[in-house]
Parts: sequence; C-alpha cells; structure tokens
Amino acid sequence: MNTAKAHCRTDRKYSPFHMSLLTYVPNEDFALKHLYNIKNTEEILATLGWTREEIKEAKNHISIDVWPYIVRFHIPKWVPISGTALYKQTKSISRFISKKDFISALMERNSRQANSSFVEETNEWYILKHKGSKAQDHRLLLEHGNITCSCHAYNGISQAFNQDEYALKCLMKDPILAGQIPDKHVLSAWKYLKCHCMASYSWVWKKIQDAAIHYLNTDWDEVSDEEVFAAAERAKKDLFGGVF
Ligand SMILES: [Zn+2]
Repeated sequence: MNTAKAHCRTDRKYSPFHMSLLTYVPNEDFALKHLYNIKNTEEILATLGWTREEIKEAKNHISIDVWPYIVRFHIPKWVPISGTALYKQTKSISRFISKKDFISALMERNSRQANSSFVEETNEWYILKHKGSKAQDHRLLLEHGNITCSCHAYNGISQAFNQDEYALKCLMKDPILAGQIPDKHVLSAWKYLKCHCMASYSWVWKKIQDAAIHYLNTDWDEVSDEEVFAAAERAKKDLFGGVF
C-alpha cells in the first residue's frame, strides 16, 4: 500500500519514465514493486543514517520518483496530519539516489533472509531444491554464470530489470552479483555452495560440473568401494577445503 502511495501522489509531478513504469501494464509495474519499493527505500534511508522512527514516519510521506538513470526521494518539510487540516514539521529529504543503491538494498534484504539449511540436493547435479514454508518447493537451476529460481519473486525481479534498461546495466556491472538476480532462494543456494559472489559461484560451478562429468565417464563396476569413498572425500576437500 505504502509503496503504491509513494509512486502516485496526486500533489506531485513524476518523471515521464516513472509514468511509463506506472502504466506499463496494469498490475505489472514490476520495477516499482520489486526494485523501487518502500522496503528497499527503508534500507537506503538506514544507510543514510535515518533512525527507525524517522524511517517509520518517512514511509507515509516519501515520494519515490524514478528517472531513466537515477531515482529521486522527496519528503516536504511540512506534511499534513491525517484526519485534520493541520500540518506538522518533519524530517525532509530531497535528493537523488543511485539505482545501484536499490540493487544493493534488494540484495542485502534478501541475503538476510537467505538460509542454506532449506536447500537440498536432487538427483541432477545442476538442480537444487529450496524447501518452501508451506510445502511449496522451488527449483534452483545451476547454470554457468547464473542461477534461476522457479519462484514468483524471481520472475518479478527479472521482469523489473526488463522494464529498466539502466538498472539492468547496473546489475550486470555489480561487483558481487554480476548479473545474478538476487532472489532470496538463489542467495540461499550461494550460501549452500559457500559462494559469496558471482566469481566464486562460477568457480564452484565449474568444479561441480567437472566432478559430474568425471562421475558420468567412470565405469563404476570397475571401481572398488574404497576408491569411490576416497574420490568423494577428495571432491569434498576440493570444494570446501578452506578455499573460502
Ligand atoms: Zn526464488
């Protein structure tokens, strides 16, 4: 609700780009919902030194105006007291925010919620499963340089970047994500694989792929149980042996 308010105040004129996001297709304003939303704004205000109380108050009065290359936060100095004709003075803001900050905010928020203990392996080396809360599991597809998730949020965030070309550019250049959609299940998979950035994920992915190819090329009838055990131990050591 608050997000919707921040994006369409009747007393403000928003940028043409913002209006195009707002009227993209009804109920499909993905960029506003997933990237330029109140939750990410709260995260950014906290990094700007705002207190919890100030952020709580700001949620009701801030307007988030998205431009092609930048975002503008605005809270007037005087704001109406709801239910009255009176105004009160509040902490105001009027400044431009980098789109990179929204990407970092989204990543930080989802990273805090990411939990490797919900991640399970499947019979396929390139697929992981994320156990959902209501028996709703999500499929994580491990690809070279990318993990995709079958969940609703992953799809929404991807669509958000499709709607905002410059934000997508920032995501591709992000030193940690390097193009990875920071969905919380994907970040859980990163934690499960002990990766903290795209570079380490790419390295681990290659190792897993090599191990899978080696496994598939091995005639297991010819190999003793001891050798299999030793190979598994070696692989584990290769992957997790204090490299990170
Ligand atoms: Zn997901």
